[in-house]
Amino acid sequence: MRAGFVGSFLAVLVAGGSPALGEELSPDAQRFVEGNLIGTFYHELGHALIDVLQLPVLGQEEDAADTLAVVLITDLWEKDDAEWLGRATADYYYYTVDWSGAAADETAWWGVHGPDEQRYYNHVCLLYGSDPEGLADLATEYELPEQRAAGCPEEFTLAQQSWGVFLDEITLQPGQRAEHGLILKAPKSAPYYDLLAEEVRVWNETFTLPRDVTVHIDACGEANAYYYPAESSITMCSEYAEWLIAVAQAAEL
Ligand SMILES: [Zn+2]
Repeated sequence: MRAGFVGSFLAVLVAGGSPALGEELSPDAQRFVEGNLIGTFYHELGHALIDVLQLPVLGQEEDAADTLAVVLITDLWEKDDAEWLGRATADYYYYTVDWSGAAADETAWWGVHGPDEQRYYNHVCLLYGSDPEGLADLATEYELPEQRAAGCPEEFTLAQQSWGVFLDEITLQPGQRAEHGLILKAPKSAPYYDLLAEEVRVWNETFTLPRDVTVHIDACGEANAYYYPAESSITMCSEYAEWLIAVAQAAEL
């Protein structure tokens, strides 16, 4: 049985034990927090692309956004970096899901996201499928059953090709200037401003968009991130970074 569940830490947070942003983190904790921030940012970019490019979504939009996150991690980063980024998201589910099944009755089956247990396996499968030889250990470590693992290279290829059709269309050609792009609207003092500024910079050097998408780092009253179609804007809640730090600390990273 897995022993990763840190959900009880939520109670500590609610009780006012919020960890300080900017606190010195261990290298593992830092990778965990940054990897999840980047993975979640890519997920929200998935929602943004579906909206601004008016993409057809055949299936759950949340799944499509999760898939884009892995495709961007593996497309935009070198192999070693893609691995720690991908591991951060897998670790997040590993630590926060109650694997005992005790909370199964509380699963919101009506929700727009698949259950976290399934998002975990989908994520690990796509990640492993991106490099089955290089990431064989990862599949074992994250307990990806063989019957699922066998099809993961194909699942990844399908994901990469499906998103690739649209990513190719917006990829800047040599000498081409971006029509529109991501615009970061946040004070430099915002949590993880530099991290997101770098993501926005790389995106704008790589892709063009039919209209601008703004990126905000704001307090939202909840640990979340979301895309708001009416304003073509992504919001990364500052509480989300705090929550990731809390999970890292509870997991003793
Ligand atoms: Zn989403």
